[in-house]
Amino acid sequence: MSKIGFIGLGRMGQGMAARLLAANHRVSVWNRSPEKAAALVSSGAMLAATPAAAAQEADAIFTMLADDDAAERVWRAPDGVLGTAKPGAFAIECSTLSRGLVIALAQEAGQRGLRFLDCPVTGRPNVAAAGKLTLLVGADKADLDAARPLLDPIATTIRHFGPPGSGTAYKLMINLMGSVQIAALAEGLALTERLGLDREAVIEAISDSAAASRQVVYHVTRMARREFTDPTFTAGLRHKDASYGAALAAALGVDAPLGRASVAWFAEAMVPDPDADEARVIETVLARSKT
Ligand code: NAP
Repeated sequence: MSKIGFIGLGRMGQGMAARLLAANHRVSVWNRSPEKAAALVSSGAMLAATPAAAAQEADAIFTMLADDDAAERVWRAPDGVLGTAKPGAFAIECSTLSRGLVIALAQEAGQRGLRFLDCPVTGRPNVAAAGKLTLLVGADKADLDAARPLLDPIATTIRHFGPPGSGTAYKLMINLMGSVQIAALAEGLALTERLGLDREAVIEAISDSAAASRQVVYHVTRMARREFTDPTFTAGLRHKDASYGAALAAALGVDAPLGRASVAWFAEAMVPDPDADEARVIETVLARSKT
């Protein structure tokens, strides 16, 4: 049994923290909106008053947060993790952040004697709750190997890309490709609607087509039928991921006009409601289409 601090109890963090608790670890949780900790607390987690308090005695601190602003607040604020985490503890950053921030946090954590794992994930909230995530890790190999027993309850696949920053770089690249695919699906479906093609026939054909990536298959039925209740990934998060990915490409001098176009689509799609389902981007495409 290890002492774990878990910070960020959104759609993904809830399930991940529950898995660590079920693996008999002693879990101290913090979330900006403390009411989201209720179910975990009733299952035995302790509610910390600050990120610093959640981290203070922990052997490992996991964070699963929305974006760079959230991570800066949790790690660097006066009551943040970096103020109290004990040397030797693992700092396991699972959020999708910009590569620059991840590299800076790894350096700051290292200066404090923490073992930093850049550890973004793939898998939606149901996959997180089932402990079947894929972890995209950037870390010192010895640190990753030492942390593996703590990662077992949340993941079935661990991919190691190199030092801190490399897991995030891969994650931003693959999510930028995903953004392009979702935006392209929205454009394609909008076209089939203008053409008046049979909706169910289109869904079946696209799902069985050469363009049927897992991303496209996941979205095609929901997007075509406008089934947007209970979003698992929001337009706001998609825009954030695509923006960080496009910024990474630009910083490396890689021209990525398709990626930039997807950023523009999701920038528009998130305006009515950043917490809406990312597949609502089809409504943005149709709203911009000439009548
Ligand atoms: P979410 O449900 O929106 O949860 C976001 C979490 O960040 C919440 O705990 C939220 O606190 C916290 N937060 C936001 N702004 C904050 C701030 N300024 N200070 C402190 N805490 C803040 O998002 P999610 O779907 O769980 O995703 C979490 C991360 O995993 C994101 O980086 C996302 O890109 C990545 N991811 C998501 C999926 C997915 O399918 N959903 C899959 C892979 C990776 P409150 O509860 O107070 O709002």
